[in-house]
Amino acid sequence: MGILFGPVKSRRLGLSLGVELVPSKVCSMDCLYCEIGKTKTLTTLRAPYVTWEEIEKALYEARDREKEYEVLTFTGSGEPTLNIYFEKAVEFAKNLIKKPIAVLTNSTTLHIESIRKALSKVNYVLASLDSAREKSFKLVNRPAEGVSLKEIITGLKKLVEEMEGELWLEILLVKGINDTEEDLKALKEAIAYIQPHKVQLNTVVRPPAYAISKPLSLEELERIKAFLGNKVEIITPRDRKLENISFKKELSELLLDYLSRRPAPLSELEEVFKNSEELEDSLQNLIKEGKIKRLFYQGETYFST
Ligand code: SF4
Repeated sequence: MGILFGPVKSRRLGLSLGVELVPSKVCSMDCLYCEIGKTKTLTTLRAPYVTWEEIEKALYEARDREKEYEVLTFTGSGEPTLNIYFEKAVEFAKNLIKKPIAVLTNSTTLHIESIRKALSKVNYVLASLDSAREKSFKLVNRPAEGVSLKEIITGLKKLVEEMEGELWLEILLVKGINDTEEDLKALKEAIAYIQPHKVQLNTVVRPPAYAISKPLSLEELERIKAFLGNKVEIITPRDRKLENISFKKELSELLLDYLSRRPAPLSELEEVFKNSEELEDSLQNLIKEGKIKRLFYQGETYFST
């Protein structure tokens, strides 16, 4: 499987082509709610998790496919900035590709100046901050040794001051873990300090890495949104659905590719792969071949690799 993914359409970014800079699953955190599963390599070590040759090849392909997408997104099945070539990849993409560039990050490397410098040049940085209190930060994000919440918050603040594009802060709340009154007050203070361009509020939607993760209701999210202030928007499960995936490959290959990123319910697969009547057959075959499995979460059937 190559490191290009999509294009997929999300409300946040439009039609996006993903470049995966780390394989499943290398991350500096092991979040309770992670949709990709438990972290296999919990580390802050920066390394060539994907080689420069692969990145360069993917970026040339992204340039050739520029008509197919609206934004190029650096992401990963883990934390993309842990790839030692991250800064070089951003610079290369900036010179090669005319479309806007986005980066998804868990914010743990923002104390590194070269990473902030690279991020300051892209159009959108979608950065996570789930808690501004040490205790709930450790509970919800389960960071690698050496990750500092203080450095994350300071790094986010510095990035906003330095960047040419926009910083969208994503806060994911897990019921009873990082949604107490104290947590929300601390988050409100952090938002006032960081001054992100947008704040996006989210909760557990797909089967999480750890079963203890439970979602907040939409009513609870609405109340929290009102408390946190007018820059905040809620990313509902509906908004997170991906649509209009390109149909250049075989359906079973596309399904495997799609589900290897995160589990998806049948309703979403029907929406995404709507131009295919073979969906049910392909899913059954992949289950028989042992390549995917069916699981149940919050009253809904999901498929997962
Ligand atoms: S949610 Fe993101 S930061 Fe957390 S473990 Fe998963 S990949 Fe890492």
